[in-house]
Amino acid sequence: MTRRDARPRIAVVGANFAGLAAARHLGREHAVTVIDPSPWFEWLPNIHELVSGEKRPADLRLPRARLVRRAGHRFVRANVTSIDAPAGRLTTSTGRRIVFDLCIVATGGVNETFGVRGVDRNAWPFKSVDECVRIGRRIGALARRKGRKSVVIVGGGLEGVEALGELLRRYRDVEDLDISLVEAGPRLLPEAPPKLDAAVRSHCGGRNVRLLTGIPVTAVTPKRVRLGSGELLRSDLTIWTGGVSAPALLHESGLADRPGQWAPVTDALRSRRYDNVFVIGDAAALPRPLAKQAYYALQTGACAAENAARALKGRALRDFRPSPKPMLIAFGDLDTFLVSGRTVIASPKLAALKEAVFQLTMAELDPPLDPRALPGLSARLARAATRMALPAGLRRMLLS
Ligand SMILES: Cc1cc2nc3c(=O)[nH]c(=O)nc-3n(C[C@H](O)[C@H](O)[C@H](O)COP(=O)(O)OP(=O)(O)OC[C@H]3O[C@@H](n4cnc5c(N)ncnc54)[C@H](O)[C@@H]3O)c2cc1C
Repeated sequence: MTRRDARPRIAVVGANFAGLAAARHLGREHAVTVIDPSPWFEWLPNIHELVSGEKRPADLRLPRARLVRRAGHRFVRANVTSIDAPAGRLTTSTGRRIVFDLCIVATGGVNETFGVRGVDRNAWPFKSVDECVRIGRRIGALARRKGRKSVVIVGGGLEGVEALGELLRRYRDVEDLDISLVEAGPRLLPEAPPKLDAAVRSHCGGRNVRLLTGIPVTAVTPKRVRLGSGELLRSDLTIWTGGVSAPALLHESGLADRPGQWAPVTDALRSRRYDNVFVIGDAAALPRPLAKQAYYALQTGACAAENAARALKGRALRDFRPSPKPMLIAFGDLDTFLVSGRTVIASPKLAALKEAVFQLTMAELDPPLDPRALPGLSARLARAATRMALPAGLRRMLLS
């Protein structure tokens, strides 16, 4: 048997924030196979900027195969269709079978439609680079069209508000463009302090923007959005930002008890159903629920890699200790909010901070060991440095 054959086999399913972090922290003493259907790592927290054209797809993507190979592992481009944990093997959409001693599941979530009629066919999801590029193109074409036109954003959470900000960045001077944002909950940005709702509303004052809260959407047709109040909104483009739900694979593989349930894990991120599986990132349901955020996904990836190595050596596992970070919410070029607990600082200049976090984390994921990455990294850091030169008159507005 060769040395490679003798190494413990670890399969990582999904390679965005959580899966890639796990792969990068797994040592070469393991034979690691990383599987994802898409060739690109995608930086999702900034995809709203594709809607206005502020960013291009290439700004937000890194080639997965290169990142995985650089960590010393094998990348397989495919969708995992089943995980048979008791047998220690998984199957891919390309018909491949991959055998593992340990599996790390990092599949993230899928678009949550809440079963609302017509969403799948008539609303545009907002979850990937390609989807946001398509939305950007569609809005561009609408804006050029003569006569009144309207866009409806469904969902007033982080994604919906950031999408609205990008529409205003690019199209706020298009007088015959009406924008509505509909949120079922009582206020915008339910994950942030209440005064952010007022701040967003004040930025929308005097513009062709309707903010409707406390009203659910009950159906979406090609040209209309039906509200729970009975009102019909005209819509040439309906953007759906309804959040995420668990992918079918979790339930189908026995990692979750019912469809739509996130996979329950222990404090050490080990599946509560199978000892040879860890579940990380958005896909995991921790004993104490955690916000589904990219920085937590990265942290769970690092922890699972360490625990996988420990498990294979029969050592005790380490509990995952989340390290919260301030949340940065962009509202186009009109404002950026930094939220830390109940404290909020607002300033358009904070966009530079969001940009720096993005550029620096991308650089960390793709460091310039490979000469081909060097020009990209220099350009990113130069941009970050320029934007970080915050003017002395930074507006510090304590909203809460
Ligand atoms: C529009 C938007 C804005 C956001 N803004 C922020 C923000 O400002 N700050 C923040 O911290 N977080 C933000 N988030 C949340 C953040 O992006 C997620 O928490 C993070 O992406 C979760 O990482 P993950 O690796 O668990 O899952 P994902 O990033 O969703 O990655 C899952 C990966 O698994 C792959 N996969 C899925 N199924 C399979 C399968 N069957 N076989 C193989 N591979 C599979 C997918 O292709 C994907 O690459 C935002 C999300 C969105 C959509």
